[in-house]
Amino acid sequence: THFKDYNLSNEILRALNDLHYSEPTEVQQKVIPNALQNRDLVVKSQTGSGKTAAFAIPLCEKVEWLENKPQALILTPTRELAQQIKEDITNIGRFKRIKATAIYGKQPFNKQKLELKQKSHIVVGTPGRVMDHISKGTLIVDEITYLVVDEADEMLNMGFIDQVEEIIETLPKKRVTSVYSATLPKDVENLCHQYMSEPTHIEI
Ligand code: AMP
Repeated sequence: THFKDYNLSNEILRALNDLHYSEPTEVQQKVIPNALQNRDLVVKSQTGSGKTAAFAIPLCEKVEWLENKPQALILTPTRELAQQIKEDITNIGRFKRIKATAIYGKQPFNKQKLELKQKSHIVVGTPGRVMDHISKGTLIVDEITYLVVDEADEMLNMGFIDQVEEIIETLPKKRVTSVYSATLPKDVENLCHQYMSEPTHIEI
């Protein structure tokens, strides 16, 4: 399998080539074709499997550059992960000039507020700060069409699951949702059941 086998634009293929991603990893092979068809996905996979690019590649492909409001939201448990994901998206979306913004706690709210005022196609953040920006109106969610919940089991362990639900409740109902988790405890399965429509299950 090669990335060229998928329906990806030349801008994305060129970025993957520059990153020396010569072929898709197993999780990417299973996720990318489904994600490009806008399916809801529950993906059981570990860190190191290439899961970030598995959701970042289709997101970069799908978002429309001309739209000014954020179109994709990625929730993640830690600020380190948020920064890493932002970096990966910036690299993959480079030739499409995709702008990603990371928002997380322990960084000045106003700095992030200013960044969110600029065009942002994809927002990645930790649940507390994301909810904060949504309630204060500094993160506009009415054009969010893609939601990724990353490391859902970690969010549960860290006590973020209620905030994750609170955030999801504010998002447009018409959207594509994917949940990534190393394990699938009951509370994560409940979350999937409640907020997704007949998701495709992928296990690595
Ligand atoms: P992740 O599981 O998302 O933390 O990714 C693990 C590492 O694999 C990261 O350093 C990625 O840059 C790298 N990676 C992701 N996809 C590929 C690929 N198709 N080929 C080579 N390396 C990759």
